[in-house]
Amino acid sequence: MTKKFRVFATCDVGESIELLRKRGYDVEVYPQPKAPPKSLILEKVKSGIDGLITTLRDPIDAEVFEAGKGKLRVVAQIAVGFDNINRADANRYKVPFIHTADVLTEATAEFAFFMLGALARKMWTAEHLLRENKWDYWHPYLPFLGDEVTGKTIAIIGTGRIGLAMIKKCAGFDMNILCYDPAYQNHAFVKAIQEIKDLLQRRGIAKEKTWIKYTTLDDALREADFVSVHVPLLRERESDTPTYHLFNERTLRMMKPTAFLVNTSRGPVVDEAALARALRENWIAGAALDVYEKEPLPPDSPLRDLAIEDRCRLYPHFASAAKITRLSTDPNKGMAGRCVQGLIDVLEGNYGGDVTKMPYVVNKEAFGK
Ligand code: NAD
Repeated sequence: MTKKFRVFATCDVGESIELLRKRGYDVEVYPQPKAPPKSLILEKVKSGIDGLITTLRDPIDAEVFEAGKGKLRVVAQIAVGFDNINRADANRYKVPFIHTADVLTEATAEFAFFMLGALARKMWTAEHLLRENKWDYWHPYLPFLGDEVTGKTIAIIGTGRIGLAMIKKCAGFDMNILCYDPAYQNHAFVKAIQEIKDLLQRRGIAKEKTWIKYTTLDDALREADFVSVHVPLLRERESDTPTYHLFNERTLRMMKPTAFLVNTSRGPVVDEAALARALRENWIAGAALDVYEKEPLPPDSPLRDLAIEDRCRLYPHFASAAKITRLSTDPNKGMAGRCVQGLIDVLEGNYGGDVTKMPYVVNKEAFGK
């Protein structure tokens, strides 16, 4: 390597940092687990770094790109969502940015499914009963019962990578599946899942005939026992079908009073004030959330209300937090490996230096010939 590249990472991404150093890179890692202040990111970028490794906690906008003008060549984000990076600004300054799609798809989908199970079968409440020494008897229905998942109907909102992976998990539980996505419909995938369902029933492995189909948002919300959200955060100006507060008073009231909402996408997709009311007033039966309008979840959040504790499961943005998924240095397995490989691709000019051919770059539109 002729040039020694300088990189600032706003968080430690494990062994992949050492691999960069072994390649001759000069890498500085922000040592605290919390996000660095933006002023520090600006200072580092101004100092002339070539690459910036970020997380979804770091606001990356025109101010950052201006500070790195002519020097900063790549932003590599360890996450699939990139709503913290202003794409228009990145394009204006012609800085490619990386995300780590695909490698967290299965981990996120399985966590969404486990959240759904924990919520419906009251696993948290049941364990508390035991730990608080309130398990006094076995009784057919006291002190409470949960809701089965097998054979129920789920709505998958957003049928991109994680939505489709979630469909696979749900198909394994013989669920009926309603799909909604205004921008991308994978009919071949849906047909294949139906064929598998039909085969299982013909062979007597599944007792009932179950189905999967695309439908409208309203029908999906009205008919589903579970609603699982897998959309990117898109604000008003960013899409014809924005997802900001997609779940609000109107859409929550459309759901059945026995239905459950699961959100592993982004917090602002759900209007939390409306959801807290929906839970308090029993418009829906429960919710399990991994992401919040403000993270970490503030101590005074209405979602922490003890009155809804039994039907509101709360997790700390944890869906992709599995060992191999987060930290493997293999770009085909780990977010860290993929993030660092994307950074190397840009800085070392892989793919003939053609950014549009680099697999992990998001904003390829800024580099078209
Ligand atoms: P993706 O781009 O493959 O899929 C998103 C899908 O949502 C697309 O098919 C898109 O057409 C669809 N969509 C867009 N607007 C919609 C709307 N208004 N209604 C319904 N569907 C709409 O992305 P992905 O890899 O499946 O990831 C989805 C999101 O999940 C990410 O953007 C990220 O924010 C979030 N995520 C969270 C975690 C976590 O730890 N909780 C982990 C990974 C991803």
